[in-house]
Amino acid sequence: MKVLVLNCGSSSAKFQLFETNLEAIKGGTETCLAKGIVEKIGEETSSRKIECLGKPAFREVIPIPSHTEAIRLILEMLTHAEYGIIKDKNEIDAVGHRVVHGGETFTHSCLIDERVLAKIKECIQLAPLHNPHNVRGYEIAKSLLSKTPHVAVFDTAFHQTMPARSFNYALPYEYYDKKSIRRYGFHGTSHRYVARRVGRLFNLPKEAYNVITVHLGNGASIAAVQKGKVMDTSMGFTPLEGLVMGTRCGDIDPAILMYLIESDGADVVSLNRILNKQSGLIGISGISNDMRELEKASKEGNKRAALAIDIFCYRIRKYIGAYTVAMEGVDYVAFTAGIGENSVLIREKCSEGLEAFGAVIDKEKNRMMNGKEGVFSTDASKVKLCVIPTNEEILIAHDTVEAVSGLL
Ligand code: AMP
Repeated sequence: MKVLVLNCGSSSAKFQLFETNLEAIKGGTETCLAKGIVEKIGEETSSRKIECLGKPAFREVIPIPSHTEAIRLILEMLTHAEYGIIKDKNEIDAVGHRVVHGGETFTHSCLIDERVLAKIKECIQLAPLHNPHNVRGYEIAKSLLSKTPHVAVFDTAFHQTMPARSFNYALPYEYYDKKSIRRYGFHGTSHRYVARRVGRLFNLPKEAYNVITVHLGNGASIAAVQKGKVMDTSMGFTPLEGLVMGTRCGDIDPAILMYLIESDGADVVSLNRILNKQSGLIGISGISNDMRELEKASKEGNKRAALAIDIFCYRIRKYIGAYTVAMEGVDYVAFTAGIGENSVLIREKCSEGLEAFGAVIDKEKNRMMNGKEGVFSTDASKVKLCVIPTNEEILIAHDTVEAVSGLL
């Protein structure tokens, strides 16, 4: 069946069209028929882009004033006679929507109906920057593909198996009870894809292994997945907590905020900017949030770039140690996303000291990974270190197939 995967953000709409089915989910093959993006929606220089299997790529800069127009254009590009891949939009059998926050309500992906939509809207208060755009994307797509089933796949759902000791903060309990303040975790679709892929790669049922999944992109998070269930993860009530990220600080002493309010007169807007946009790799280095640039600068002797890399990797190693204990042992540590898949240096630095837990890097294998799936620990290493390129879109497509087949 043909499944359209839609990821609607504040100013962009990414999409992929898959030919897939239940067999593909069990390990068969599927085809990505088309992939594209509409960017800078509402700006002068908005653009649209598509690349379909066996067809010439198409890109164009045109004013795209609204998300409604963006999604209409996606369907137009998919059905275009020259560079499109389907003749009619009704060839699309189902649509899978990425939804950032499912609160405590959604533990699985599900078909969207009136009741589900109302619940997703209730989660807007927990993700005011993301869920409104996901909801809007659904509403527009539903109006254009009204007979097609639509499925919501949540970033938070995979983490809902966390025990209370992991998801509760040590705040007055009413904050959890009455205001839903707790750890939710994000990047769930990526962590689930990687954890599942480890099982496929090593031919193991999910109950047979513990894996620490290390998602290192511009946003970064780490999860402890014990026998298929998340035991803990580093992002919290929001994606700000945990690892050092491109522009986000990750873990800090919350008293720093009180100090900045008192000493600098900082307010909500400035604190939000400092912690989300001006911290992390860019904040420490003063150069860039792009790891490639930091690696280059560090090699050229820039001390702050080197420090940023050092703090980034040290934080990851601390979490790997903590999660190994949380799961009473680990079998695999799997690196993914832009940095995790591509950076030889970061994987090497993150593996320092892990010998104590039975994970021994093979530096030569690590150098040869080149973004490919595989193992980079020594043959004798008890814990396997590996790279698993993430693919959230495929998982969204699979969940959509399962949901419309009545399996979830
Ligand atoms: P993502 O958010 O998953 O697209 O990842 C973006 C991050 O991956 C950026 O910090 C990039 O600098 C980083 N990245 C991509 N390719 C490489 C590479 N070859 N070496 C180091 N970092 C990389």
